[in-house]
Amino acid sequence: MHYFYPLDCQIQEYDWGSKTSLNQLFGIKNIENKPQAEVWMGTHPNGCSTIIANGEKTPLSTFIQKQSIFALGEKVVKRFNGLPFLFKILCADKALSVQVHPNKTQAEQGFNKEQRSGKVALDSAKRNYKDPNHKPELVYALTPFQAMNGFRQFDEILTLLSRLDIHKLNRMLEEFEANLTHDGLRLLFEAILYTKGAEKQTMISGLLNHAKKHRDIEPFNLVLTLAQQYPDDIGLFSPLFLNTITLKPGEAMFLRACTPHAYISGSALEIMANSDNVLRAGLTSKHVDVSELTRCVEFYPQCKSTLRSTPNKNLNAQHYAIPVDDFSFSVYSSSQINQLETDSAEIIIALDSPITLSHSNGESVTLNQGEPVFVAAAVQQYTVSCSGTFARAYCSLN
Ligand SMILES: [Zn+2]
Repeated sequence: MHYFYPLDCQIQEYDWGSKTSLNQLFGIKNIENKPQAEVWMGTHPNGCSTIIANGEKTPLSTFIQKQSIFALGEKVVKRFNGLPFLFKILCADKALSVQVHPNKTQAEQGFNKEQRSGKVALDSAKRNYKDPNHKPELVYALTPFQAMNGFRQFDEILTLLSRLDIHKLNRMLEEFEANLTHDGLRLLFEAILYTKGAEKQTMISGLLNHAKKHRDIEPFNLVLTLAQQYPDDIGLFSPLFLNTITLKPGEAMFLRACTPHAYISGSALEIMANSDNVLRAGLTSKHVDVSELTRCVEFYPQCKSTLRSTPNKNLNAQHYAIPVDDFSFSVYSSSQINQLETDSAEIIIALDSPITLSHSNGESVTLNQGEPVFVAAAVQQYTVSCSGTFARAYCSLN
């Protein structure tokens, strides 16, 4: 049985995807000129990777099921009974929806409630919870990567929204000013999201008129960019609520549960727990359930200076501290040979030059940048040589 399996991965052609980035970064062809939004590396049923095992094309999920201890390692089998993470390459040309992921308890409660009620099928567009799992995420920028993450400070939100001087909004802001707390923010957020019809149009026109006069102020400039993509969407107010950030290539950011966020543009690696639970708040044509959304949001400001993740550096490796068990993530750069030890399944991808994985039994595989490889846990120890940078997704349980 081999330890190293090059992955053949599905590309998700969501409409916000870039048509050129995968080609520019990794030489991946786009013959049909379709948006190439995400490459999925993992076993998620909506896009399971395949491998060649015993000379046959096999879904990675089937391979793992058939020899789970060999593929995943004993600890991961006991704790998760499957590959606990999904690893992606993400290339955004257009903003993705403003979204929130539930924590584990909220996901379990929400999923069980929808299952019990029997009213909304698992594949319905109105379904909130696709599974009972949380979906913490880490994003690692490959190009400048613009995003929104976490609420601004209360007084900053008040100042930005007050500038607009919109009659209906002013009344909401008076209440917020008298109650500058997480509860006050919740009421304001709900009031804006529940605004419909002519009132919504008036509020959006007021926002855009002001933004056009103040393009020099970052959040207003972003409002105008988003308005080209989502002209009638109440989510256009989100840059005034949420921190805006542009990661440089090589910088990373963790997206906590219960925290609103949105990716705006750029390419990145993304690693997350194996879940599809997304509650949307705007910049979307998909289902928005405001009451379920606000049940899951924590209305606390997040300090902008703490958004970037600082890795622990060890020789040529950068290890990112992840506050959940489902995945670990490290990036290695330098031309030296890396001795890696593992007791879990891993996915390795080189970012800018070819890479060779070898085991002491003589097994060896060489791949180009952008070609991911699955490493079975039974390998225990292996060496990686790469003259550039490579990323490693794995699971380190105690
Ligand atoms: Zn997300």
